[in-house]
Amino acid sequence: MILGAHVSASGGLHNAIKNGEELHCDTIQIFLRNPNRWQAKPPTAAIIEKFRDAWTASPIGDVIVHDIHLSNLASPKTEVLEKSRQQFQEQMELAHVLDLRYIVTHLGAHLNEGEAFGLKQLGESFDFLFENVEAPDVTILLETTAGQGTNLGYCFEHLRDVIGMSKYPERFGVCLDTCHVFAAGYDLRTEADCETTFNRFDDIIGLTRLQAFHLNDAKSTYQSRVDRHEHIGDGNIGATAFAYILNDSRFAEVPLIIETPQMETMHETNLATLRKLKS
Ligand SMILES: [Zn+2]
Ligand SMILES: [Zn+2]
Repeated sequence: MILGAHVSASGGLHNAIKNGEELHCDTIQIFLRNPNRWQAKPPTAAIIEKFRDAWTASPIGDVIVHDIHLSNLASPKTEVLEKSRQQFQEQMELAHVLDLRYIVTHLGAHLNEGEAFGLKQLGESFDFLFENVEAPDVTILLETTAGQGTNLGYCFEHLRDVIGMSKYPERFGVCLDTCHVFAAGYDLRTEADCETTFNRFDDIIGLTRLQAFHLNDAKSTYQSRVDRHEHIGDGNIGATAFAYILNDSRFAEVPLIIETPQMETMHETNLATLRKLKS
């Protein structure tokens, strides 16, 4: 299995590698910039070099980027749409410079313009980015969402439709967040539930698209459409789903990332819980 965590990159991107190594991660996820701000200073050449050196010297494989929280590539508001595209372009360019293969992003919110409008807007945003950004090896991982408010991505069909309407379907993969799909109404509590959910994923999107997991238990309840993460085994999903994913040979090469609460103090515990579930 390829197991890791979302880690802090505060103080410089190279610190994310150090934080991942301390947790014995095989892979990590990071924010390339403050997730709550539109503007960001790019890292200096010195920081980029430190990052490269630290990564090369470490056993960490993929370093996955998570898009910022403000981003809404489906927005009906011109100003937000343009800012979202601009910052996403900057992230793609930086990912290219740093040799990072994946950027995970949520599908955004249609803000009462309707799902069809939002999905079309999103598809156009990605094609705009693919045609205007020189980052040919960067894959966009569309993340399944809990579907709060008017957020898109709470059903597998939304992800399929965005990939299907793009002129560049080969540029997409999917990141499945266990907490989000559970809150959205895909059950995972028993092995039979896991079978059903992954069969549906395979039928609608295709398991070859599944290129990352976010392993989070859920404080939110089944079908609540609420996004609240919980420590592994302590939430409403429970340990069975995580044991299922960790021991399924179809997912042996897929990065598994925790985004559980209190990352500074509890990541070690949550990773240990997962390692014990691997038989
Ligand atoms: Zn996410
Ligand atoms: Zn979440």
